[in-house]
Amino acid sequence: MTPSPACRACGSRNTRIRGTQRRASSQQPFTYHACGDCDFLFVEPVTPDSVYDDAYYDGRGVDPMVNYRAEYENYRATDRLSEFEDLLAIATRHLRRRDTTPSHGEVNWLDFGCGAGGLLKFLRDSAAIATLSGRRPLRVMGSDVGSYSQRLRSEAGFDVRSAEDLARLPDGSFDVISAIEVIEHIAEPAPVIRLLARLLKPGGLLLLTTGNLASPMARWRGLKFGYCMPEIHISLFCPATLRRLYGDAGLIPESVQYRGVLNFKILKSAGSPGRRRLLRYALHFPGFRRLVDLLYGTSAMPCARRP
Ligand SMILES: [Zn+2]
Repeated sequence: MTPSPACRACGSRNTRIRGTQRRASSQQPFTYHACGDCDFLFVEPVTPDSVYDDAYYDGRGVDPMVNYRAEYENYRATDRLSEFEDLLAIATRHLRRRDTTPSHGEVNWLDFGCGAGGLLKFLRDSAAIATLSGRRPLRVMGSDVGSYSQRLRSEAGFDVRSAEDLARLPDGSFDVISAIEVIEHIAEPAPVIRLLARLLKPGGLLLLTTGNLASPMARWRGLKFGYCMPEIHISLFCPATLRRLYGDAGLIPESVQYRGVLNFKILKSAGSPGRRRLLRYALHFPGFRRLVDLLYGTSAMPCARRP
């Protein structure tokens, strides 16, 4: 048997094969490697970025549970709205806690991995963040590799940059950086976290969400866990993996309690409209949401701030 490769998150050689998965989309099986030092789980082979084409964003690609184009065009009519509102509320609370001196300057927000641009559009429509010292205008920038990034630039006038462009930006360019369900698509997460850490202002917030492979549900399901989609989710994290990556990049882990982000995740996986109605009703009960949060470990995944 060929030895497991070095960990793509921490570089350790203490890795082992966790299992393999065959998928209809690929002739060769995908192999999962687990790191004994940082709990990172990574997939080989890595699918090229060309998988993020128009079909992917329309929900006709490898992730049929989302239609990013519909969410972009009319996010107010989709479940995604609760996620966007939650992210803005979390960022607002964070800025308010640090807003001790009057500042009416704009809030610079980078949406890293902006995809079809739904969050960018929501933030542009929101226009400002109400801090203790007044309303601070929101200035948003996106970044992505997909076919949509060009379109967001040319058709909707968004400021969307490539990873190379971001690397040229000065230190401390952003008050908030969001990376929503993005890091699992990136083969080597450490340089990306270091770049985002450098781009954050002191006190700035990295709002990062990704699946929790240490959650009770993930442990129970193993590689059958719904988040294991090896064509696109090539890097899988536990809270400990994230905390270590943050620490190595000079960031401080920050715990966040999600509401709308969690609601969206629950409704996204509902399947039929009938089940979605039932889940929407169940979400009125805080105990139900707490139970799901516990089972999937959503709020257990830390965000980070720059000291
Ligand atoms: Zn590792």
